[in-house]
Amino acid sequence: MIDAEIIAIGSELLSAQRVDTNSLYLADQLNALGIEVRRKLVVGDDRTLLTVAVQQALHNQGSGNAFTKAAGLLILTGGLGPTEDDVTRDAVAAALGRPLLFHQEISDEIEERFRRRSRKMAEINKRQAYVIEGAEVLPNNAGTAPGLWVDAEGTIVILLPGPPKEMRPMFEAECLPRLKRRMPEVVIRTRFYRVTGMTESDLDALISPVYKPYANPVTTILASAGDIQIHLRARCATEAETEGLLAEVGSPIEELLGPRLYSRNGDPLEAVIGGMLCGEQATLCVAESCTGGMVAGRITSVPGSSEYFLGGFLAYSDAIKTSLLGVDAQLIAQQTAVSAEVACAMADGALARTGASYAISITGEAGPESATGAPVGTIYVGIAAQGQATEATRFVMPGDRDRVRGFATNAALDMLRQRLLGSAR
Ligand code: AMP
Ligand code: MG
Repeated sequence: MIDAEIIAIGSELLSAQRVDTNSLYLADQLNALGIEVRRKLVVGDDRTLLTVAVQQALHNQGSGNAFTKAAGLLILTGGLGPTEDDVTRDAVAAALGRPLLFHQEISDEIEERFRRRSRKMAEINKRQAYVIEGAEVLPNNAGTAPGLWVDAEGTIVILLPGPPKEMRPMFEAECLPRLKRRMPEVVIRTRFYRVTGMTESDLDALISPVYKPYANPVTTILASAGDIQIHLRARCATEAETEGLLAEVGSPIEELLGPRLYSRNGDPLEAVIGGMLCGEQATLCVAESCTGGMVAGRITSVPGSSEYFLGGFLAYSDAIKTSLLGVDAQLIAQQTAVSAEVACAMADGALARTGASYAISITGEAGPESATGAPVGTIYVGIAAQGQATEATRFVMPGDRDRVRGFATNAALDMLRQRLLGSAR
């Protein structure tokens, strides 16, 4: 198994002006080949710093620790231009202890490229015709800087241009075929689990005893307010082995998570709910206060949601809760708008006015100030269904306005999912 390191070069990448997107693209491409990226660096246009970074990456190879035993590939992007601040060729040559040799035919090609555009090649462009001794030249059809492929005692070092429009086609045309030839056949499969209703630390405490002993599959946990993704990525020689390994680690995780696990293929909550509503041939409406339409937005982001979603009410002020949904003004005065009673009345009002099978309502204090006296982050989600008792659940979510509203949206969608799970039994 080959592992890789990526170095993105360019002082602009260390400022807020430009983001290093090349390494994201490369990581994706490499992962698809079964190559893990172990480390990536961003280095400014500094010859000495870059030389040291390359030396270190090469050294990592032989030092025998867990990371380096596997490392076999070093990809650099950027710094291949003609100007003084383009130092990648020099730095890699210095780190490898190899000379740079002038190639007349590369210089001629660059000159020809300029001529085709009725321009004259500047003298400094000749810098781009220098090649590290022993390297293969990777032609650049989209620009002047050729790439280089160096086989350096066990490590493949690849130099690619910085502009994504030049780097990507060069990687695909020149590097992918070469890498594929060297890679053993591997089958890579990923399971995308999604979980709601628990914190990241509780989730990890629960499932880490299962996945920790395994380096393959690689387990990644990504959390946002009220929604956690667990990615299991396995790579083996055959499809059967890969699937077997995913089942070996995935099945006990599924068991432990139980109904907290809402998706096994990465589908978001709104798509899962959509499938459940379709299965029941049921319809849905919403009544939203502090989420201002976010729940309806999520539901209608699913293609085909017109099958089950009737619409909703955006009842932000107390007066509109009364005029639009029929919530008793006295109830609001007694209980405040952020209360279980008002959440239930909102859901009842929406259900009665639309005739939907289910109605969900959200009312809460998203902050930064509290209008009702309820602590900021307090959310009530109500749920009403034809022929069932209406109920509301209180959640408290610490955090800023965005986080509270995002969490409230997830909590509302999940309440409905739980109810649908119950009715399916
Ligand atoms: P270069 O002359 O090869 O150093 O790169 C020139 C251009 O490519 C600049 O406009 C950079 O902003 C862009 N570029 C260089 N490196 C990256 C990177 N890692 N991700 C995205 N763009 C990059
Ligand atoms: Mg640059």
